[in-house]
Amino acid sequence: MADRDGVIWFDGQLVPWRDAQVHVLTHTLHYGMGVFEGIRAYNTTVGTAVFRLKEHTRRLFESAHILAMPMQHDQETINQAILEVVRENKLESAYIRPLCFYGSEGMGLRADNLKVHVAIAAWTWGAYLGKDGMEKGIRIRTSSYTRHHINVTMCRAKAVGNYMNSMLALQEALSCGYDEALLLDAQGYVAEGSGENIFVVRDGIIYTPDLTSALNGITRDTIFTLASELGLTIKEKPITRDEIYIADEAFFTGTAAEVTPIRELDNRAIGAGKRGPITEKLQTLFFDVVHGRHGQHKEWLTPVK
Ligand code: PMP
Repeated sequence: MADRDGVIWFDGQLVPWRDAQVHVLTHTLHYGMGVFEGIRAYNTTVGTAVFRLKEHTRRLFESAHILAMPMQHDQETINQAILEVVRENKLESAYIRPLCFYGSEGMGLRADNLKVHVAIAAWTWGAYLGKDGMEKGIRIRTSSYTRHHINVTMCRAKAVGNYMNSMLALQEALSCGYDEALLLDAQGYVAEGSGENIFVVRDGIIYTPDLTSALNGITRDTIFTLASELGLTIKEKPITRDEIYIADEAFFTGTAAEVTPIRELDNRAIGAGKRGPITEKLQTLFFDVVHGRHGQHKEWLTPVK
């Protein structure tokens, strides 16, 4: 990833991609205290546009606030920097990664002279869980790793250290031949995927876990709005793994994963074992909205130019 052309926004400057470097004593590299975002820009009917830019930047600042990391910039500066990175890299569509981290000003947990640095990179990234998965659905397994307990770490923050748990779960799932992991919370209820929120459908009603042990996904929020506009009911409730075994449909949502159907959990087919009709409806609508093909929700698209 480091050896490529392009520019990265780094502490207020656009720097050549290869020069966006940090020291090995970068504090966040040692202790995981940092926050980040994952944002997409799509090639839309009004040109390249960032999807739900303000909401992502707001969550970035909320994540920093939760971790008590003092941001040096305001939200509007970061919004503009994100647009600039997509524009300057001449990307038609992009995955955008803002990262806020403590630098190498000090070492040790007690370091009191740390500064929050911000880097924003963007590159082209296709379907995170594969084009095939988008149509046919993916196979997942319940992880042997538990999702975060609320007083171990805090899921409202998209925090760097939270992703060690995600990676352990994902590596386990991949090494066992599955596409993704399903993590349960400390009580044993369904929480989320390693980088996705989860929804299930039964008898025409859509269910999703509350946010106790899951990230407040912006795609999740988008699905709430789109489902209600389609006249579909979504309910937040505790969900058990066997409820997913006997659901009619299930799907993941996330900026990277977009809307990905799940066809199997723990070797049990979900419903007909393929993308279900409600999932397909929401997926189609989602892609129409993010590409500006839908008449509504232009407020979610911020043109890059
Ligand atoms: N949960 C986790 C753990 C994630 O990393 C993500 C991706 N940011 C999501 C859920 C989905 O969030 P969003 O729709 O905002 O990308």
